[in-house]
Amino acid sequence: MLIHIKGGVSGYEPENIARMFFPGASLTAKYVRGEDLVFAAAGRCRLAAGVRRGGKCLVRTAPLPQEGESVEFALCSLLYELLGQATGLRMPWGKLTGVRPVRIIHDKRAAGWSEEAIRDLFVDRYDCTPERFSLALQIADLQKPIIAGRQPLDYSLYIGIPFCPSRCSYCSFVSRTIGRDQKLVQPYVDKLCEEVREMKRQAEHCGLNLKTIYIGGGTPTSLSADQLRQLMGTVRECFDLSRLEEYTVEAGRPDCTDAEKLAVIKEYGASRISINPQTFNDQVLANIGRKHSAADILRCFDEARQVGHGNINMDLIAGLPGDTVESFAASLDQAIALDPENITVHTLTLKRASNLVIENRDEAYADVAAMVELANQRLADAGYRPYYLYRQKNTLKNLENTGWCKPGYEGYYNIYIMEEIHSILSAGAGGSTKLCQPGGSRIERIFNYKYPAEYIEGFDEILRRKEGVSAFYARYLDSETTG
Ligand code: SF4
Repeated sequence: MLIHIKGGVSGYEPENIARMFFPGASLTAKYVRGEDLVFAAAGRCRLAAGVRRGGKCLVRTAPLPQEGESVEFALCSLLYELLGQATGLRMPWGKLTGVRPVRIIHDKRAAGWSEEAIRDLFVDRYDCTPERFSLALQIADLQKPIIAGRQPLDYSLYIGIPFCPSRCSYCSFVSRTIGRDQKLVQPYVDKLCEEVREMKRQAEHCGLNLKTIYIGGGTPTSLSADQLRQLMGTVRECFDLSRLEEYTVEAGRPDCTDAEKLAVIKEYGASRISINPQTFNDQVLANIGRKHSAADILRCFDEARQVGHGNINMDLIAGLPGDTVESFAASLDQAIALDPENITVHTLTLKRASNLVIENRDEAYADVAAMVELANQRLADAGYRPYYLYRQKNTLKNLENTGWCKPGYEGYYNIYIMEEIHSILSAGAGGSTKLCQPGGSRIERIFNYKYPAEYIEGFDEILRRKEGVSAFYARYLDSETTG
């Protein structure tokens, strides 16, 4: 299937609408005769959208919207309705293509919209299902006091470890396989510690208050226990951990996480960890390239509890290759039986750089919508509540990722980054520092080099770029603090 967008509008949103219905479609600049094609065009007098599949063609046209209305939105609506008719599919989030639906509710509330007007926006204008709107609303309500407590100079720190024991088939992250790139690991940790110190200098210089720390990846526990001590020791030296709201370390995979590393993470001050089974089905674990079994996950969870971790997240993925609704339900029940404080349910996303897509595997995906509904039901019944949500492009059935928690165990970092509440300073390869204007809506980014080797070699440039943090705050601080 090809996507062809024409006319005086940006093709970005119509393309996103077309991709919701045909995720693997490629974009074409030319109208191609005979090929299966979705097209959308804004002319001088009318809008047109059409789809041609297997020689059959369906076309709709509409007048241009009234003055003041968005031509792009009108074209997206026309295309969305036409593709719904042509495929018989209804998208759970309707025409909403963005990553952060909950943010829309926060923004509209802040702009003085009534609850009814917000509902109409989601359900009538965007054609979002009432169930999805209600999920987003529940999360917005839960986040409200957390967001209300924000201060202009708050920030969080992200530290990235771009190494993993093996590559999962659905992953598009730049992570390197630890066995193959072993010689890079120690120099990487040395530079990372230097960057953490630089972050501390920048934050102090700007008068920022650290709220949360997140060590993620990759898989941070692919470092040795001594390397974890070195990194977390540097963090402890630089920051007053007693003032943090939360300190998370991803202990993602049991094939590189043992009792010693779990004890180091606890000893050096982490208050939350993540152990990510994705599934408890051994065959599905093998299908996605994981080199461990479900029994290893149980062992890892038990060791984590034994060394005193009292706040554990577990990630599951709905729609993994070879999984079934029954097997997903069994994974969910197993996760709930372990009684972790957080369970995050992701829907599989087909990322272009993943092996799953590159190798063009002809996977059959089970009914992922049924899996996600089942998760929502069983987690609510087990006493978990949804506390953050985000969407990604090319996710099966256009579904979402939702973090669930026991009351009082909301993962603050996840809320802060997803709702763009405050700046996130990011250390490590692939890191992207996101600077949020104090008291305003402007966002600027500073990027680190992507790969560990580049990061090590170009480290002086990384440090130079970090001066952008002070420059950013110098630009905005006077107007904010002097009102
Ligand atoms: S553990 Fe995570 S980062 Fe590492 S390969 Fe798997 S999905 Fe990618």
